[in-house]
Amino acid sequence: MKMLFENWRGFLTEVKNLVCPPATQDLELNTKNRDSAIHAEHIQYGPLNVDEPGDYWEEIAEYWNTTVEAAMASKCGNCTAFDISPRMKECMPGETSDEDGELGYCWMHHFKCHSARSCRTWAKGGPIEDDDISADWQERSNISDENE
Ligand code: SF4
Repeated sequence: MKMLFENWRGFLTEVKNLVCPPATQDLELNTKNRDSAIHAEHIQYGPLNVDEPGDYWEEIAEYWNTTVEAAMASKCGNCTAFDISPRMKECMPGETSDEDGELGYCWMHHFKCHSARSCRTWAKGGPIEDDDISADWQERSNISDENE
């Protein structure tokens, strides 16, 4: 009986952890988080229009103390926090790709970001394409939310 209870509790924990991140389901929250990521000095998500980037890549290259070429090779699409796992694709509303790339979920800043953009907190190691790794990010994200 105790084992059954433990299994049931494990199952509930699993379900709780694997619900879609709120920003994938709530446009207002997603927009709020995205706008914060655009404006925050330490994030600077962009460029707004990937075809008309202005001096976005020059500025981020200078911030990173690197070349424009290296900066342009460091985008959401290969960031460690960019989640395009099958379970996250299920959370996305409708079509998520276009000629420039695709949408994924950003576990650092909690909004749907685009693979062709970037931000100052980019980190090597992505994208997340595995459901277990996605669930692990969500678990750690839930723990840090509880600690706030
Ligand atoms: S996925 Fe990475 S590069 Fe893109 S907004 Fe999130 S932290 Fe920044």
